[in-house]
Amino acid sequence: MGICLRTVDYSETSQVVCFLTRNTGIVNLLAKGTKRPKSKSGGAIDLLAEGEVLFSCKNPETLGLLMEFSETVSRTPLRRDARRLNVSLYMIELVGKMLPEGDPHPPVFDLLHNALERLGQSDSPIEAVLGFFQWRFLRHVGLLGELGSCVGCGTAVMKIPPNAEMYFSSQQGGILCPACYGATNEKFRITPPCLCGISALLTVTSGQKADLSESQGVEVNRLLGYHITHQLGKPLRMMKHVITTGNRQQATESR
Ligand SMILES: [Zn+2]
Repeated sequence: MGICLRTVDYSETSQVVCFLTRNTGIVNLLAKGTKRPKSKSGGAIDLLAEGEVLFSCKNPETLGLLMEFSETVSRTPLRRDARRLNVSLYMIELVGKMLPEGDPHPPVFDLLHNALERLGQSDSPIEAVLGFFQWRFLRHVGLLGELGSCVGCGTAVMKIPPNAEMYFSSQQGGILCPACYGATNEKFRITPPCLCGISALLTVTSGQKADLSESQGVEVNRLLGYHITHQLGKPLRMMKHVITTGNRQQATESR
C-alpha cells in the first residue's frame, strides 16, 4: 500500500511520484504514461491518492519504476472541503520533508492513513486530528522534544501552576519552566489552553482518540508548527494555509 506525497511532471505523459509505502517507506518512482487518460491508473496520479503500488527499484540511489498503481481509497470527501484538503496537504508535506527515503515506518503509514480517513469524515474535529497527527508523527521520528517536564531543571509540567509563564524551546528540545526560560532567546510561549492540550496528548493511550477542544487544538498546532519550522529551518509551504501565526507569536519568538 502507498499514499502519494508528491508528484512532478516528467514528460508529456509521465510523472515522478513520491509514495509513502507501508513496507518500504518513502520511494520515488517514475510513472510512465500515467498522464494518458487511458492509462492503467486512470489518468495522472494525484496527491493523497492511496492504493496498491507495484514497483521495481534495483538501486535505492536511483529512481524506481512504477509498474502498477490501483487506487483503493477514495479521497473525494476530503477534496470537497478546502480546510480539510489544506490540512491533509500539510500532513503529506510534513511526512515527505521529515521522513528519510527508503526507511520503512509502518506506524507512520498507519498514522497518516488514519488521519486522512478521519479528516474525510465531515464531522471530525479538524484541529484535534491535526494536533494528534503532528504530535504522534514528531514522537515517532524522535523530534517531539520533552513536553512532560522542564528541560532545564526537570520539574514535572503537571507540578507547575497552569497560569505560570512557560515556554517551549526548539533548540533546547522541550519545555522551560518559569525559573529556567530566562536564559534562552529562542522560545515559544505556551498558553494555558496549549498546556491543557499537551496534558491531554500526554495522557492519551494507544488506540484512543485525543480529547482536544478546538481552542486547545489550535494552540497545540501553533506550538508544533513552530517547532517543525525550527527543525526544518523554514516553514512548510502549506503551513500558512493551515496554522495561524499571529503577531503575538512573532513577538514571543523575537524576544
Ligand atoms: Zn525549569
